[in-house]
Amino acid sequence: MSESFDVIVIGAGPGGYVCAIRAAQLGMKVACVEKRATLGGTCLNVGCIPSKALLQSSENFEEISHSFAEHGINVGQVSLDLGRMQARKGEVVAANVKGVEFLFKKNKVTWLKGAGKITAPGKVEVEGQTYETKNIVIATGSDSAPLRGVEVDEKQIVTSTGGLELEKVPGHLVVIGGGVIGLELGSVWRRLGAEVTVIEFLDRLVPGMDNEIGKQFERVLGKQGMKFKLKSKVTAAEKSADGVTLTVEPAAGGEAEQIKADVVLLAIGRRPYVEGLGVADAGVELDERGRVKVDGQFRTNVPGIYAIGDVIAGPMLAHKAEEEGVAAAEIIAGQHGHVNYAAIPGVVYTWPEVATVGETEEQLKERGQAYTVGKFPFTANGRARAMGSTDGFVKILADKQTDRVLGAHILGPDAGTLIAEMVMAIEFGASAEDVARTCHAHPSLNEAVKEAALAADGRALHI
Ligand code: FAD
Repeated sequence: MSESFDVIVIGAGPGGYVCAIRAAQLGMKVACVEKRATLGGTCLNVGCIPSKALLQSSENFEEISHSFAEHGINVGQVSLDLGRMQARKGEVVAANVKGVEFLFKKNKVTWLKGAGKITAPGKVEVEGQTYETKNIVIATGSDSAPLRGVEVDEKQIVTSTGGLELEKVPGHLVVIGGGVIGLELGSVWRRLGAEVTVIEFLDRLVPGMDNEIGKQFERVLGKQGMKFKLKSKVTAAEKSADGVTLTVEPAAGGEAEQIKADVVLLAIGRRPYVEGLGVADAGVELDERGRVKVDGQFRTNVPGIYAIGDVIAGPMLAHKAEEEGVAAAEIIAGQHGHVNYAAIPGVVYTWPEVATVGETEEQLKERGQAYTVGKFPFTANGRARAMGSTDGFVKILADKQTDRVLGAHILGPDAGTLIAEMVMAIEFGASAEDVARTCHAHPSLNEAVKEAALAADGRALHI
């Protein structure tokens, strides 16, 4: 028998590594098992961080190619060095994953390298060694969902992982799935010169997004050159030396058509990952969608085994996983860890960005909630004009009776940063009036948020 621990976390993604650090801060003896060669999970290695590195680089490329002249900056012939761009992305990832390794050392978290298997409650096997522990936290995350008839080879038909690694800009990239990942990576390759077609089963992009924001988002992306084929399903993909031929049918059934692509990005969603973990042997229950079942305190049905992050229900987001990691560690330490699921932002990092928190107008209608709406367009915001980035608007939804903020939805420049004040407003139970009466710096994009809050009471000043 090897060393024993108070907590063994399985998986070192944003859920797992944050949970391990918090547990160590609380004085527990902690190990974190990770089978990948580097720490940080999907997010740091093949998700949030590399995608944002490429989004930034491709946005710089697009700006310098198309927008600089308007500012009176002539740069001559612009050319793309994709090899350098990819290398930079690698450097960004390396710095981040090394950062987690440093944090583990600083907090005395032991990294158990290899795949972890729960052999019994309180026992985790890694590379043939069994470790005893008082508590286990499952944080094994998720992987890309497959689609029948579309076989991924990570070269011609790629998941997001291969989609971040392309060595050549495809002539025609077909994205299957109009969700966040598909639209972000589609934007990267479109900006770098690919023709991009997004095929989506539903009649709209990013299901769950406030409808009005979603419609305008689709228009903005369309204006940028992205093409959409909504209400359509891909039923087959045939590879040849010169590309992939997709068979596409109307979602409701009907005549099939063929679409040719150089590269196909399969981005129809992600599924919880528990392969090889031994959950069945340990008696840990999964739900109907293969997610580890937990109660309100991240406890599975087996005493001493907890689960957090993408592997349990809820939005598959890094910051949601992190909040759960902190809360689970605090609960294990006997404290009152808690996650407020009403105040978890979601961001699409295209340009403009989309950011949202709380309920959509459709959700409020569905539950019969009386509400007020305040909206303000970025065309009326001085800073957005100065930036030359006026697409989009802020929309705030508040309880009609109490004025408490119920939801906020922003399509616009830097929306992912702007949403923070509305997340805070919801967290603090603020009213739209509280936001409206808060002094916002001028000229800033945040003034559009204040104006939308004023508009909820019919008294916006600048429109
Ligand atoms: P993961 O990050 O998936 O980590 C799980 C880890 O567990 C992995 O490293 C895996 O190797 C390891 N593991 C699994 N099984 C075992 C085992 N048996 N033993 C040992 N180790 C094991 N979210 C955002 O909030 N913002 C974004 O901008 C964003 N962008 C994204 C872009 C892309 C392309 C993708 C794919 C995802 C993106 N996400 C984003 C989602 C985000 O990456 C996930 O929500 C987040 O990583 C979930 O964290 P986690 O800790 O639950 O799991």
